[in-house]
Amino acid sequence: MFGDLFEEDFSFISNNHCGKGKKSKPRDSEPPAPRDFTRLSGIKNQGGTCYLNSLLQTLLFTPEFREALFSLGPEELGTLDDSSKPDAKVRIIPLQLQRLFAQLLLLDQQAASTTDLTESFGWNSHEEMRQHDVQELNRILFSALETSLVGTSGHDLINRLYHGIVVNQIVCKECKNISERQEDFLDLTVAVKGVTGLEEALWNMYVEEEYFENENLYRCGACDKLVEASKSAKLRKLPPFLTVSLLRFNFDFEKCERYKETSCYTFPIQINLRPFCEQTEMDDSEYMYELFSVIIHKGGCYGGHYHVYIRDVDELGNWQLQEEEDRLIEDKALRDIKNAKEIENPLAVLKGILAEEESKQIPVDQLGQKLLEKKGVSWNKKYRKQYGALRKYLQNHPQIFQFSPDENKVGLKEKHKLLFKSDSQGQDLQSSPHKNDVQWNSEKTLTRLRDGSAGCHWFDLNDSKVQPIKEKDIEKQFQGKESAYMLFYRKSELKRPPEARGNPRYQIPEHLLNEMNAANTELQKKRAECDSANNGIDLHLHLSSCYKFHNGALHPSLTWKESVVDLTIDRRKTLGDLRQSVFQMLESWEGDMILSIAKPLPAGLHLYQILDGDELTLDGIGLADGADLFVWNGKEVGGTKVMTGPDHEPVVINVLHLAEYNEGGKGQHFTESQHVFSCSTKVGDLHTALAPSGGIILKNGSGLDKEAKNWEVFREEDMKETVKSVGLTDGCSVLILDSHDQSFVNVSSGNLTAFTYDISWLQVKNFCRTDGDEKHVKITATIETVMSDIKRKAIRELQLEEELANDSCLRPISGNGKLLSPVPEDYTVKEAELKMGSLLGLCHGKAPASTQLFLYFIVGSDQNASPEMEIVVEETVSVKECLNLMLEKSGLSGDNWHLRRIDWCYEAGEALSQENATLKELNVCRGDTLVIMEGKLPPKGFLKIPIWWLKSSSHKKRGENAQDQVNGMTCKMDALQVSPSGDSPEYIHPDMDLCYAGSIEIAGEASLEDLKMQYVLIWHLLICHVQWP
Ligand SMILES: [Zn+2]
Repeated sequence: MFGDLFEEDFSFISNNHCGKGKKSKPRDSEPPAPRDFTRLSGIKNQGGTCYLNSLLQTLLFTPEFREALFSLGPEELGTLDDSSKPDAKVRIIPLQLQRLFAQLLLLDQQAASTTDLTESFGWNSHEEMRQHDVQELNRILFSALETSLVGTSGHDLINRLYHGIVVNQIVCKECKNISERQEDFLDLTVAVKGVTGLEEALWNMYVEEEYFENENLYRCGACDKLVEASKSAKLRKLPPFLTVSLLRFNFDFEKCERYKETSCYTFPIQINLRPFCEQTEMDDSEYMYELFSVIIHKGGCYGGHYHVYIRDVDELGNWQLQEEEDRLIEDKALRDIKNAKEIENPLAVLKGILAEEESKQIPVDQLGQKLLEKKGVSWNKKYRKQYGALRKYLQNHPQIFQFSPDENKVGLKEKHKLLFKSDSQGQDLQSSPHKNDVQWNSEKTLTRLRDGSAGCHWFDLNDSKVQPIKEKDIEKQFQGKESAYMLFYRKSELKRPPEARGNPRYQIPEHLLNEMNAANTELQKKRAECDSANNGIDLHLHLSSCYKFHNGALHPSLTWKESVVDLTIDRRKTLGDLRQSVFQMLESWEGDMILSIAKPLPAGLHLYQILDGDELTLDGIGLADGADLFVWNGKEVGGTKVMTGPDHEPVVINVLHLAEYNEGGKGQHFTESQHVFSCSTKVGDLHTALAPSGGIILKNGSGLDKEAKNWEVFREEDMKETVKSVGLTDGCSVLILDSHDQSFVNVSSGNLTAFTYDISWLQVKNFCRTDGDEKHVKITATIETVMSDIKRKAIRELQLEEELANDSCLRPISGNGKLLSPVPEDYTVKEAELKMGSLLGLCHGKAPASTQLFLYFIVGSDQNASPEMEIVVEETVSVKECLNLMLEKSGLSGDNWHLRRIDWCYEAGEALSQENATLKELNVCRGDTLVIMEGKLPPKGFLKIPIWWLKSSSHKKRGENAQDQVNGMTCKMDALQVSPSGDSPEYIHPDMDLCYAGSIEIAGEASLEDLKMQYVLIWHLLICHVQWP
């Protein structure tokens, strides 16, 4: 579908508002922007109203129109204030137009609004506005005004200014009777298609005659028959203001569509209408008109935009153009383009040549010759391909060229000859629109043109935008997509009173002047408020009396809110003004007042430069909205000297230490604390403050990420650098490692060799010295650290002799303080199954190799009697060899011994009966305890059976004796060690009359009868033995 014919292209509209986005603070209803340097007001585009705006500006810059409108007072029109009263006669349209004009003339705003006016037309939606064409609107507006002015002195306002009459006459060739018909017009509509300009169009309309002849005869009323007659039209009455509508929009019946005529259509700045008038005998001044407005349509026939070029007749605006040089350069370019264009148009070229000919007609071939002479082009070379042969071309334009009867000579038709008369210099002027009018007023026009930049006061009014232009710019609107659409001429004779010149208040009624004055005052007030709001900055004043200096920065001693005073001040005020305001706020202030720029940093408030130069503006010294200022004496705060400036910025650094085992909770391998340092602190000083002697500091550039790869060691050469220069900023972490932790650091590459989350501690206690100083040290390790390294570090940390390394070992210490089995030197922490944080003892004696076993042993099952001894044996020795080594160590001799394991309650347990088996084969492990027991093991194949004696209740009394006896016997039987089964200790159940009577050793193959026999035998022996003493 086609769009709306007059729908606007809104891309032209610019939104320009007060403040220009300088300040983001929202302010309620900013006042409209003031006028710019042109001092003229534009009109807002209210959505598709650009054609209305163009027309309204034209009417405004028709001083005679606006003055006639202003002359209608409230006594005739009523007042807008009364418009709501039911019986009041209020003529809203002229009143709204008056008010709009007053605003356009006097109200200091960039663009006025037409909403009230369009509402007075009854147009309430954009849709209604878009329905109109500017030519149509002109008529609607005039008609609406006329209707609303009926019965007032302004009833003939439109007629007075715009009404003209055209007379159409038909003259009978026979009786010379003239039949005529008058037509009124407010504007003239002229053709564009096939016409080169306004003069030609007028010529066609008001000079050319039409003939009734041959087949087409006229019926004369007087003769009462068909006669030959001539028909013509003339302008009978010229209005003071001539409005010309150009028929740029046409309908192509072949293509069945609308199109816009974009061909060149010239029109003069000044025009003499005498040739087109019925009465021609008056003074020239009666026929002279001057162009003062050109409404321009930009776009195609289905949409576009209107703007208007207007001559500011009263010179109300400030018409100030760019440098003259620009103009000259532009002019030259324009001339070049024009020349080139001229050459492109053979019609214009030929017309020009013929117009200069004294004789009426010249031979066609001579015309070709002259073309070559004057323009330097040959028809055949330049035009033939496109336009055909010269003669044919001339014949195709009979409305312009006239051939002699023999068709050898050619000349211009009369009207063209008149129009294209040359000037005295012999230049061809035919294609220049300004020069077309030489015939009427050559001298004046030429003067005007040559002095074009002086005082012609043309403006381009494009909705809100108003720009000065040169008169020459009008030529750009002769043709193309953007071209003139309506022309407005004013009679040259209409002179403006000198007092109107440059005086926008001229002839405006008092009440409107007052209204505009009040509106301007209100606007100024609003602008001042807006301005001051836009320039107001909020400052936070921190008062030194509310601050304390500690931990490298200033901290409020009260809450932040109580320590800060907010002050709003215009940024254009001076520092002196600010100081005065602060003094006024703090009435009790004594002594010097220093204002320093302050900045809240993570460490606290820090001070920067002192504000200096009371004559400078706050804007000038760079105080921004929201700035913090510290108000103090410039020396100290609470007795502490305060260092200021970027060189003393406090930096908060996270200091990490390796956590001891469990210290940091699960997964926490660091303890973390925050320290504040001045950014100018030397790294060396930082080191001294944080790390123990010999320790190292690593920095982590990427914050708290604890990956080893991000840690970097501060090296010796870094120590002279400052916290700032090595890039330590707020939130940076440093890791402190003690001297012995440095094995995790490859100092040459500066990187940690282990992931720091693997690093933990082992503690080593010195058991080698007996001088009472049982110092213990913490040794950093990972699970991969080898025990010999830990030992070496421990010896160094404990400041023991290096040689001790050859005769010492590390032994875990159990919870109850017992030294456990030494850890093999080549084991890692992981292999030794040591828990991080556990305690090790550094002891004399070699640690066993991984093929050796460290064993404890005792002699006899009575552990109190025999001290626990230790021995290191190869795991491949046999039980027998092990026994012998142990006997040797404990100083026992003989072969009446055997070895047993110790059981879970530290009693002698299972015997190691396979004398020739190795300890490894018997799964004897490092740290096991063995017991040396007296007596030989039973031969192979014998069992030991515990014997329990059940006392009968009838033998109770006797049994008590017997029990005593048995108990006494048991000791003896234990001593005999007949049956050391180990799993049947002497046991008497308190509620049962069971007592242990010892064990019987018996061959596995023996029968139950054998066992019984043996038992009876022993029992008798026991009884006898008891009874015997
Ligand atoms: Zn007649």
